[in-house]
Amino acid sequence: MAELSRADLQPLAERLLKADLVGALTGAGVSKESGVPTFREADGLWNKFRPEELANVDAFISNPKRVWDWYNWRRDLMGKVDPNPGHIALVQFDSLLEEFVLVTQNVDNLHNRAGSANVIELHGNIERNKCHSCGRFVDEVVFEKDTLPKCDCGGMIRPDVVWFGEMLPEQAITTAWQVAEKADVFFSIGTSAAVYPAAALPFEAKRAGAYVVEINPVPTELSRVADLVLQGPSGEILPRIADVIREVKGE
Ligand code: NAD
Ligand code: ZN
Repeated sequence: MAELSRADLQPLAERLLKADLVGALTGAGVSKESGVPTFREADGLWNKFRPEELANVDAFISNPKRVWDWYNWRRDLMGKVDPNPGHIALVQFDSLLEEFVLVTQNVDNLHNRAGSANVIELHGNIERNKCHSCGRFVDEVVFEKDTLPKCDCGGMIRPDVVWFGEMLPEQAITTAWQVAEKADVFFSIGTSAAVYPAAALPFEAKRAGAYVVEINPVPTELSRVADLVLQGPSGEILPRIADVIREVKGE
């Protein structure tokens, strides 16, 4: 990626500063520079199972131990890494812009850990657990030798993440949709724009009149309709954008 100059980013910075509402959708790519693997780029991420074969209800019902092993492995990995400069630049958007809402498909909690104020989690959060039967949230889960955590109601405890084939949390998707419809500028960052309904948000934002900016090292389905495609890693591009906003503001 050629270094993005101030001149390259100034029109975007000016647009962002004029916007009443800026929205962003992030995907696994934004956490890649923290050391969290994405799904679609990696082959054989874990064992011999594909994420699609583990992140679903049928897999949990038929082999909860295998699904828990995978989530415990991911939970451990995600807990050990730190937010990267991309997450941190997005925290700065909160104070630099009039109103900024961050919609994420990530379950790694890194936006919250970085300190973003308005995070909408579309796919849940790997740090939380809930009962698969009654939905109650459970803080601590205990794995005793060969037994899996159970709720008081007798139901199985599971990670509070949305699995393939499951509905998204209603409040989260409703709010995210409203942001896409109202935003003046909408970012799509580090997502392959392939997992629906989240992937529809930047397209909806475009339809509703937003200026759509994509940040990704490779082209996606969205690239053709985006108003601006910034090709490269979000951990480099987002801090540049935050810098140029500050320069334009004279800070
Ligand atoms: P995805 O569909 O969001 O695709 C990852 C995208 O990130 C790709 O388009 C890739 O080109 C891009 N990318 C790679 N490096 C990047 C960088 N440095 N900067 C910006 N973009 C970069 O994610 P997926 O891996 O296909 O996963 C689909 C689903 O699984 C989503 O819900 C996703 O959020 C979830 N998932 C979450 C995590 C996490 O919480 N960190 C990790 C893996 C998967
Ligand atoms: Zn229960």
